[in-house]
Amino acid sequence: MESIIKQIEDPELLAQIEKLVPFHGYLSSGAFIGLQMFNLARKILEIQEGERIYVTCETRNCIPDPFQILGGATTGNKRLKIKELGKMAVTVNKQGPEDAKVEGIRILLDAEKTKAYPKLHAWYLNTAKIPHREVLPELLAAGEAIYSWEKVELEVPVRAKKRIQRCEKCGEMFILHKNELLCGTCTE
Ligand SMILES: [Zn+2]
Repeated sequence: MESIIKQIEDPELLAQIEKLVPFHGYLSSGAFIGLQMFNLARKILEIQEGERIYVTCETRNCIPDPFQILGGATTGNKRLKIKELGKMAVTVNKQGPEDAKVEGIRILLDAEKTKAYPKLHAWYLNTAKIPHREVLPELLAAGEAIYSWEKVELEVPVRAKKRIQRCEKCGEMFILHKNELLCGTCTE
């Protein structure tokens, strides 16, 4: 893994990897794909350093982490949403006014394009067990060439006032979604 990182010459990418590795635990193929998606979104949407971004990841695996550690979009600050669709895809947008439309970008790891990189392709489709150290050089070589992206229009939701309810069964407090009387634990 160290030898792969040593091949990287771009100082910005290296600095990003230095932050990502301790956060994610190691440099996985998925985390690196998330990093490439993050950089592509930054370029297309012209996101400046420190600018707020909002992210929806279509998988829980790996890809959210670079957006959390490098983009400051976390589940806790609600700028990162996970839609578990099992897809290597992500939608990114900048901050926009409430109840209005904002431009975003959806980026997908495109299986038509990964075909040109046999190890990466086999890893992606899980047709063979390929270690990260063999996938990463292909990801590095491919760069942006393996992604497809499109601009999307997103609705910025109106922030609803938070209402707290005491559950009629267990007595614990919870945030109301509608007008339910029982908490999620008690209705499970
Ligand atoms: Zn309850």
